Amino acid sequence: MIREKVVVITGASSGIGQAAALRLANDGAKVVLTARRTERLIQTVHEIIEKGGEARYLAADVTSKADMQNVADFTVENYGRIDVWVNNAGLMPLSYLNKRKIDEWETMIDVNIKGVLYGIAAAVPVMERQQSGHIINISSVAGHRVGMGGAVYSGTKFAVRAITEGLRMELSPTSNIRATIISPGMVETELLTTITDEDALNALKARAASKALRSEDIANAIAYAIDQPEWASVNEIVIRPTTQP
Ligand code: NDP
Repeated sequence: MIREKVVVITGASSGIGQAAALRLANDGAKVVLTARRTERLIQTVHEIIEKGGEARYLAADVTSKADMQNVADFTVENYGRIDVWVNNAGLMPLSYLNKRKIDEWETMIDVNIKGVLYGIAAAVPVMERQQSGHIINISSVAGHRVGMGGAVYSGTKFAVRAITEGLRMELSPTSNIRATIISPGMVETELLTTITDEDALNALKARAASKALRSEDIANAIAYAIDQPEWASVNEIVIRPTTQP
């Protein structure tokens, strides 16, 4: 059941995270939205409240352990618990390795891997105390296979799948914490704006689906995983555009 669940979503200022916040709030969840762009968060929280839903926001950078801890503390102070934590924030500055965009590699690793770990570190102690909870990590089809220009991005998304599976094995039997990987194919969002390597961008466009997914399609997948009974743990959902090769 989604109704009344307390759900934290990172990267909720645009794309998949924003769509998930709107969808889950519409289904009766109490949603905590977090990202760096506060104005975007405020707009979405207003939209949810205008429709009769329940939502709050807190600005945070997922590369900061302290910020992630603040989000967990804020959620417990406001709603008393954390039922679901969605590690969605991510960047995709694709580039060929020989371009040596080392700063971009580091930022991607910080946001896409360390950000997920900091989210887990903040949420899991609360869920262990509750003896229930659900961590949902957004990986990618790129977490299953590598495309040209995607070596580091895929590396981060393979890592997200590995971390989620490890979390499931360690924490589901003892603490009743569910773990779900969502692996989308191409979704129409702002994600491509982080690509500075024209060659990598062109390679991506050459393998793109003729019709990308919408953020709402991924929000549906997240909602499905949450909506299952407590004894059923959806471990991974892979969702591609029909025309994606
Ligand atoms: P968007 O660019 O629309 O959203 C990315 C979100 O991440 C934004 O809300 C942004 O918020 C947040 N973010 C980025 N850096 C940080 C940071 N340091 N601290 C906090 N928040 C941060 O892209 P998508 O919605 O597409 O991406 C969401 C997830 O889906 C990512 O993990 C992405 O890898 C994954 N994905 C996307 C696919 C696609 O085709 N679009 C396919 C497969 C997976 P702000 O800038 O306000 O901080």
